[in-house]
Amino acid sequence: MNLIIHRGTQEIGGTLIELLSGKSRIILDAGLPLMDPGDKTKKLTLNLRGKTTKQLRDLGILPAVRGLWAGLDDGPSVDAVLLSHPHQDHYGLLRYIRSGIPIYLSADTLRILNRSNVFIKPGVQVRDAQFLNHRKPKRVGETPFTVTPYTMDHSAYGAMAFLIEADGKRLFYTGDFRGHGRKAALFEELCAEPPRRIDRLLIEGTTLGSDSHDDKTEGQLENELIKAFRQYSGLKLVSVSGQNIDRLVTLYRACKRSGRVLVIDLYTAAILEGTKRSSIPHPGPDWRDAKHLRILFTKKYEQILQKNPSYDEVLDLSEPFRITQDEIGRDPGRHVVIFRDSCLDEYTAIGDWGKAALIYSQWKGYMDEPAFQRTAAKLKTRGVDILSHLHTSGHASKAHISRLIEALAPKVLTPIHTFHADAFKELWPKVELLEDGMPHEV
Ligand SMILES: [Zn+2]
Repeated sequence: MNLIIHRGTQEIGGTLIELLSGKSRIILDAGLPLMDPGDKTKKLTLNLRGKTTKQLRDLGILPAVRGLWAGLDDGPSVDAVLLSHPHQDHYGLLRYIRSGIPIYLSADTLRILNRSNVFIKPGVQVRDAQFLNHRKPKRVGETPFTVTPYTMDHSAYGAMAFLIEADGKRLFYTGDFRGHGRKAALFEELCAEPPRRIDRLLIEGTTLGSDSHDDKTEGQLENELIKAFRQYSGLKLVSVSGQNIDRLVTLYRACKRSGRVLVIDLYTAAILEGTKRSSIPHPGPDWRDAKHLRILFTKKYEQILQKNPSYDEVLDLSEPFRITQDEIGRDPGRHVVIFRDSCLDEYTAIGDWGKAALIYSQWKGYMDEPAFQRTAAKLKTRGVDILSHLHTSGHASKAHISRLIEALAPKVLTPIHTFHADAFKELWPKVELLEDGMPHEV
């Protein structure tokens, strides 16, 4: 088995790995880069809209993989793409691949992709989905590759790591993971019962090199949120990813325990309902009696759903949960409202917010974006405090990375999805740093 990391040896985001055995080839993840391919110290700001796959390949956005990209006549198609989890920097290039290439992924990942399609433009359509299940080995089509997936604790729902076997070799790819989230038990299970005889480990190191890494548990965060809710007698706004299911559960639990109401928007409602898990708060008859979950029909999302008949059911299910600005305005202190920059006017319509706070429950780096800066300035003129400490990372701490490496005890470790590959040399004696695009034996 041979390996080419097309992108990811020196950067976070845009992961794309090719594995080769005889004439068979499979791809692990097809991520949109976060960094500019021409200058990896800069963020990617290029507008990709309207560009052909040839232009995107020439720009280095699409790595040079034969038989992968639609519209390029460059040999037979790859046999499959395996997708670790539904974050753009791991799946964002799927929309450029040839039709007919099967996509292997978890059912949970597919549900999130399908539900987010109309909200995140342009979305992806997975036509030939092959489902992967926790610890169940599966042959990849007619190829020599067998994949055994491991469900991982990560901020993306449905995230998996992959053990890939072919030609008597065993490669383990972690995807993105952590050990302090609501699925921490899966991390513990993997450390306690790891796959053995790993020839090469590809492991993510997002947090290495950052001294401000936050790895409190979601449970600890829940307690901190309750404290903050009590500290502010007025409206609580929360900036959070609508796809971070762990965090939404944490917010819901904090509201329930402190007698408050979590007010989500229709995007979040669609994602939560799309998980099809009765244990996760969602608009559905089984949650109708829940006094702690309501939905604000902000215009932007209501219009998106009305235009897409496949979301009629989400609208119908959401209706009994509908809350108005007036209702929130009568008792702002009881409400914790999911906040989007683009809907500020609609929160203004709530009226007097009282002693209010915006809880920024995402990676702090996003606060530097100009759109958020403009919003922050407007919020400050209203006397709103902005709290940025009520968050915990979606990625593993150094201690958890180290524990997983020791459990898997690979013959060779290759860092991926990191700006600090060298930092792994402290954690394992056999580290081999690879370069993007260079073939290696597994
Ligand atoms: Zn991720």
